[in-house]
Amino acid sequence: MAAYNPKSLIAEEFISDEEIRETLAYAEKNKNNIELIDELLEKARPKKVGNGYHCAGLTHREASVLLACEIPEKIEEMYKVAEEIKLAFYGNRIVLFAPLYLSNYCVNGCLYCPYHLKNKHIARKKLTQEEIRAEVIALQDMGHKRLALETGEDPVNCPIEYVLESIKTIYGVHHKNGDIRRVNVNIAATTVENYRKLKEVGIGTYILFQETYHKESYETLHPTGPKHDYAYHTEAMDRAMEGGIDDVGLGVLFGLDKYRYEFAGLLMHAEHLEAVHGVGPHTISVPRLKKADDIDPTQFDNGISDDIFEHIVACIRIAVPYTGMIISTRESEEVRTKVLRLGISQTSGASRTSVGGYTETNRPHDSEQFDVSDQRTVDEVVSWLMDNGQIPSFCTACYREGRTGDRFMSLCKNGQILNCCQPNALMTLAEYLEDYASPETKKKGYELIERELLKIPNPKTQSIARENIEAIRSSNRRDFRF
Ligand code: SAM
Repeated sequence: MAAYNPKSLIAEEFISDEEIRETLAYAEKNKNNIELIDELLEKARPKKVGNGYHCAGLTHREASVLLACEIPEKIEEMYKVAEEIKLAFYGNRIVLFAPLYLSNYCVNGCLYCPYHLKNKHIARKKLTQEEIRAEVIALQDMGHKRLALETGEDPVNCPIEYVLESIKTIYGVHHKNGDIRRVNVNIAATTVENYRKLKEVGIGTYILFQETYHKESYETLHPTGPKHDYAYHTEAMDRAMEGGIDDVGLGVLFGLDKYRYEFAGLLMHAEHLEAVHGVGPHTISVPRLKKADDIDPTQFDNGISDDIFEHIVACIRIAVPYTGMIISTRESEEVRTKVLRLGISQTSGASRTSVGGYTETNRPHDSEQFDVSDQRTVDEVVSWLMDNGQIPSFCTACYREGRTGDRFMSLCKNGQILNCCQPNALMTLAEYLEDYASPETKKKGYELIERELLKIPNPKTQSIARENIEAIRSSNRRDFRF
């Protein structure tokens, strides 16, 4: 049996099954240990240091105790701490993005995904560069500035050269005042050399969901194709970092295996990245298994309730305070509303999970990856975020200003969020309001901007932000950023 070693580069050593089992036993034993739970919550709470905050985070063992705890009052306290952490590091901003499906050809046999090779009736599509341009224009016309590229895995139909060319195409489309300023990429595990090429072409975050950290389940759920290789998949982030990508995004597909096991594995993965590369995950996603073409989620035994889902989100926020946390339109408006305050920092809006879906008037289902629960327009999502006390942000400034990896983390830690992210959020919101919003959203948005501008502590920054917003309103000048 492999000994647990967070610094190892071998999957079974940094995600040690034995360590997860011991963690779960420890959590079970202590789930009613109020004294320990209070101590952990106190440790996790943000502490004011200079202009910023320090947040200790929790280890996978500690956080697993919080997740195992079923005492309602204690869970409420966890939610409060999660909210405090979110506000300390991210403020009340939520960044918006949309997925863009390039191709659904796939050589894998994933049992939960309708793109699996044996699915002979799903329409297989791969966008041409011309079609990509059309999709990007449709996305720009909604107001999007940030995309997550999605593809199935198929070295013949969807080689890395195609992905690279597509990214260049996307960055090259400038329609009216539109721009895609950050392309994140969610493609199958690949080689260091390919990660280097992705870095060179200017991707933002490299996202790869682990699906499940449980090796045996992983192998059963991925019976055929390159994705079957647990070690190659689990070690992908180390290769990505070796290839020069320092913003990587983790996630598990909740519903495949036991959530407490996945949670411990996810945190161990984050600890591993920190231990080896000195920087944890840029984001953590929390997708839940959904109905899709020939996939019935009730066939899997490990579905989780909305309450447990909220508990997981809060515990991730508490354990890994500096990571961005992403919620997709797999979740309904109701669930999304609840988790917003528990630590989410990014959300997709008006997503279509089909290849070529954005250029269709009606939502197409023939090549869809999964059912989208939240089908609202970007304007409705922007308006809803504001109604929930959040600032919708289309900001992409950090990585364009070289603030990736640990440089982004230190911005968080030094309390510069309010002087940097707050104005960026407000300026990109103003762009959205000017160029794409409905009259009601525009009115609501400018009222919010007026209130939120006053919260920028540095008077000079506040006045520059105000001037830039004025320029956005009165001219076609765009893309101001701190
Ligand atoms: N093909 C890439 C790979 O191998 O990692 C990833 C791209 S895939 C388009 C994006 C993610 O969708 C997968 O990693 C998986 O977690 C998720 N997914 C697949 N089937 C799903 C389903 N039925 N419901 C919800 N999410 C699903």
